[in-house]
Amino acid sequence: GRDYLEVRGLTVDFDGFKAVDGVDLTLLQGRLHFLIGPNGAGKTTLVDALTGLVPGTGLARYGAHDLLGLKPHRIVRAGVGRTFQTATVFEELSVLQNLDIAGGVHRRAWQLALPRRGVPAYVDDALDAIGLGDLRDRPAGVLAHGQKQWLEIGMLLVQDARVMLLDEPVAGMSAEEREATGELLQRIGRERTIVVIEHDMEFVRRFADTVTVMHAGRVLTEGTVAEVQADERVQEVYLGR
Ligand code: ADP
Repeated sequence: GRDYLEVRGLTVDFDGFKAVDGVDLTLLQGRLHFLIGPNGAGKTTLVDALTGLVPGTGLARYGAHDLLGLKPHRIVRAGVGRTFQTATVFEELSVLQNLDIAGGVHRRAWQLALPRRGVPAYVDDALDAIGLGDLRDRPAGVLAHGQKQWLEIGMLLVQDARVMLLDEPVAGMSAEEREATGELLQRIGRERTIVVIEHDMEFVRRFADTVTVMHAGRVLTEGTVAEVQADERVQEVYLGR
């Protein structure tokens, strides 16, 4: 069967305030899943819980793991990676070095200490996938905002993330960059489970296979773009009624 991430009853309680309140999601491999909803709906907190940054209760089963019981680095090793709205790359290091370091999560401490010639093939593959081959030796700090987002996605590729959780990857991008990003996600998403938090409804309409709408910590509805857009409750929460 297909790989998937199954979330059941996920709840994140901040001193009695449930930022995420009993969320159920089944996220299949090979589809682009989008997570939308007004500010404060709980989207980021949901992703934080799935990546071990905040404690959650319930179940988040991926393969043999319940992600909710794992520390962040164990979650990365289990094959689940994320990006942040503000790209977190090493600015002084080259594009290639950033990718190589990200690949280090799968090497043991003693292997990290060994001298190596060149970079592993999977680093070159990731560089090709994200289209930054010409910039491989430039410091990541000189990259444009959009290119940094692609580098972060490349870092997830070398980590061999099978589940990718992306927080507004196209925010601040030009139309061409958004299109390139959507096509990149479609390519790498065939063999992965990709979940994108997104506010840009143009982008969602263009690339979403499934859309989950969150509101007040809960799943309000889910379906295709057309289905959720036709849902009156969705229009109501966006208009703040
Ligand atoms: P979204 O990503 O959908 O905009 P968030 O997940 O950022 O929503 O926030 C959901 C709710 O949880 C908001 O009301 C926010 O203020 C609250 N929240 C987020 N993080 C914390 C925290 N560490 N402590 C208390 N409340 C928080």
